[in-house]
Amino acid sequence: MKAYQGKSVYKGIVLGPVAVLTGNDCTVKRRKIEDPEAEIQRVETALTKAQKQLQKLYDKAVKEVGETSAAIFEVHQMMLEDEDYLDAIHNMIRTEMVNGEYAVAVTGDNFSQMFASMDDDYMKARAADIKDISNRLVRNLEGREDVDFASMEPSIIVADDLSPSETVQMDKEKILAFVTVHGSTNSHTAILARMMNIPALIGVPMNLEEIHTGMKAIVDGFQGEVIFEPSQELCCETEERIQEEAEKLQLLQTLKGKENVTKDGKKINIYANIGSVSDVGYVMENDAGGIGLFRSEFLYLGKNDFPTEEEQFQAYKQVVQMMAGKKVIIRTLDIGADKQVDYFNLGKEDNPAMGYRAIRICLKQPKIFKTQLRALLRAAIFGNLSIMYPMITSPEEVRRIYEIVDEVKQELDNDELPYKIPEQGIMIETPAAAMVSDELAELVDFFSIGTNDLTQYTLAIDRQNEKLDDFYNPHHKAILRMIQMVVDNAHKCGKWAGICGELGADLELTEEFVRMGVDELSVAPSMVLKVRKAVREMQASKQ
Ligand code: PEP
Ligand code: MG
Repeated sequence: MKAYQGKSVYKGIVLGPVAVLTGNDCTVKRRKIEDPEAEIQRVETALTKAQKQLQKLYDKAVKEVGETSAAIFEVHQMMLEDEDYLDAIHNMIRTEMVNGEYAVAVTGDNFSQMFASMDDDYMKARAADIKDISNRLVRNLEGREDVDFASMEPSIIVADDLSPSETVQMDKEKILAFVTVHGSTNSHTAILARMMNIPALIGVPMNLEEIHTGMKAIVDGFQGEVIFEPSQELCCETEERIQEEAEKLQLLQTLKGKENVTKDGKKINIYANIGSVSDVGYVMENDAGGIGLFRSEFLYLGKNDFPTEEEQFQAYKQVVQMMAGKKVIIRTLDIGADKQVDYFNLGKEDNPAMGYRAIRICLKQPKIFKTQLRALLRAAIFGNLSIMYPMITSPEEVRRIYEIVDEVKQELDNDELPYKIPEQGIMIETPAAAMVSDELAELVDFFSIGTNDLTQYTLAIDRQNEKLDDFYNPHHKAILRMIQMVVDNAHKCGKWAGICGELGADLELTEEFVRMGVDELSVAPSMVLKVRKAVREMQASKQ
């Protein structure tokens, strides 16, 4: 039995088998070898294995998502046969007498850089594919196994760290909990755990080499503890606690269908945050009144190329149709910072959180923005859709966005495609936007306060930096005063203001938010009924 403490991201408790995820990024060591031909043979064996893995992935994808989306695995198979790529690997092994892992990793990096610098968009996008196949070969050479989500039983995912693009590709049905060595409580993996209603621990100082797939473990999000190979006695106690928690959750179910109204009659909207079409199930299960934040960038993550207008249109249409008239607020692309996508070729930045991200990319690369806007405007005719723009700092940005929306409208008219201009709002997640929210309120239909970024920018604390978790204080007066100011400025212009950052689900603040006049709280689906309970138990007016 071995126990470790970590920071808890979501309070829950589970008992189950572990699946260790080794991740895609390989730091490969250079080793001198004696027998280059034997090393080349090792590479050949890893290659044959990779071909079989890709064939399996292709067959599975064809069944699940159709031939077009599965085609990428065929492309990867073809790339593995590329003579230039293979010659470069063999040549390096022979001339430098180095290990196969190293030769594959270096060749992969070289080819990937070469593709990235090409003018042709299609070729550029292949940079990520070359990296993918090289990582696969290295994994095979090192004898590390892919976690096969298809055949895996529901497990506790244990990893060094998880990027948003890794988590987005996971089969959510198969995840009992996340436990990672690194990561911050405000990262998107943490947000995903809350969304899925599963315990997650980060910053766990465990030695991954001692932990193996298949081991039993308990993740206790209440105590912030993970226990590997627990005793029989502890397993029995845990089973009882799991049962108690399930009963508490059951009690919350009685609040379904009830209004979000305080004891003295003040109503508030409680919506849910989602990252993909499949999350709509969680929204319905938890009886949210709408979707207050659809993080559309998740459609772009975990892919090898930009999603097309049609793909996006189908996704947005499906969500608004499923929500059947309830409000669905779709945030435009918020790529950059911790949400990196290789095919965007954003390049390395010293300070990505303050860098080229979100609306800044959209305004600089209107082609990408317009594809998304076309899909959104077209989907708007199928339900109650609103668009929300992230990372706004000034009225000028909003005016520029409206010019682009006008151009898109013209283009759709020319193409004779049906569309609607929906409600358009902005996120208030920079101190600049909060300070000029009086002017911004005149331009937009609503505000949604992104407290995750607003806190990081106001307190000058990188939300991804785990060393700063103790300093990250979203209850800071500076944040609460800004929220009050933003709500007041919205109301002066007859507009509504909500909160869609994680703070919206902070039950210690529900009363304060309602009293401030916040009109909507958009929270993880698993928090909807808990916030409803808090609202129904409070008085809006001070006695
Ligand atoms: C926020 O910043 O509060 C927010 C909701 O957006 P994200 O967490 O996706 O940056
Ligand atoms: Mg944000």
